[in-house]
Amino acid sequence: MSKKVLVTGAGGFIGHHLAARLVRSGDWVRGVDIKEPEFEGSHADDFRVADLRDAQACREAVDGVDEIYHLAADMGGMGFISSHHTQILHNNSMIDLNMFAAAHSASVQRIFYSSSACIYPEGLQEHADMQAGLKESDAYPAQPQDACGWQKLMTERMAMYYRHEHRLESTVARFHNVFGPLGTWRGGREKAPAAMCRKVATAKLTGDAVVEIWGDGEQTRSFCYIDDCVEGIYRIMNSGHHEPLNLGSDEMVSINQLVDLVADIAGVQITKRHIDGPQGVRGRNSDNTLMRDVLGWEPPTNLKAGLRVTYAWIEERVKLALATDQVDYPLQHVG
Ligand code: NAD
Repeated sequence: MSKKVLVTGAGGFIGHHLAARLVRSGDWVRGVDIKEPEFEGSHADDFRVADLRDAQACREAVDGVDEIYHLAADMGGMGFISSHHTQILHNNSMIDLNMFAAAHSASVQRIFYSSSACIYPEGLQEHADMQAGLKESDAYPAQPQDACGWQKLMTERMAMYYRHEHRLESTVARFHNVFGPLGTWRGGREKAPAAMCRKVATAKLTGDAVVEIWGDGEQTRSFCYIDDCVEGIYRIMNSGHHEPLNLGSDEMVSINQLVDLVADIAGVQITKRHIDGPQGVRGRNSDNTLMRDVLGWEPPTNLKAGLRVTYAWIEERVKLALATDQVDYPLQHVG
């Protein structure tokens, strides 16, 4: 039966793709965001611009819906996260507090919350060799590196308390670095895959082969392709599992390896220059054991296949920017 769903953050990267997926599967979708989607029109049946820090805006957004996919957040890559602690804590707490209260008041049946791998304790991520990955149970005792992680943890708890005390059925996914077409690729909020695609494309198109990387490039991450993330969100929402679940790939690479992969896809020789910059934790990978047990599924797209599609999309953006002289690239980021 067709449901009425709200996607918050539907003007952003994951929310935009998710709204399209839900419409395709027959749901009626309302998308809400403080801005319109940047690269193409929303697929939502009803798209509204609203500031969800405002309680009344949240009440209007949830009106008449059965379910909520709550993705709206003031967010970015490492450069942004490591230098905007107060803004992140303030804005995202306001959005989350008001959205959960509105969902409860309107007797919404279910809410999905997008948490993050940044909730995991810093002390477990001090080494680049993270083959073992972070398990869901590693979250406590808590010691996230940044305000982003503390704020997401607080909302994870809020989701749990609303479920226990008010029967608001909540599910939580901890996203690990999501990438793909239509994601932020410049401006300061982009993450490592987009930043590296942009830098390599710029090297290819301008002939300046130098690609700058923050730190020694040996810091590690795993990256989840957008189609897998959207599919995982849908499966988690419908799983009946209420404790937080990782949603990420366990194909871990160093940032140097990531750049090499992108350069290989682009067919260009590049020279890496390692410079000072925020690097985040030293190593991070997703342990997908619980995800496999609960969902009988894990993200199937390998990094190279996802990067191929993403690189092609970003190369087109870079070409356009170079042609129209809109080259305002700041720094690259590690999410
Ligand atoms: P995004 O920045 O593209 O999307 C977030 C959207 O929220 C943006 O469109 C933004 O305009 C909107 N927003 C911000 N403040 C708002 C407000 N006051 N009112 C209404 N809308 C507002 O980011 P994304 O990558 O699509 O991330 C979606 C969610 O997933 C976020 O909660 C993010 O923290 C989480 N997450 C993403 C990643 C990733 O790698 N992309 C990793 C971990 C967690």
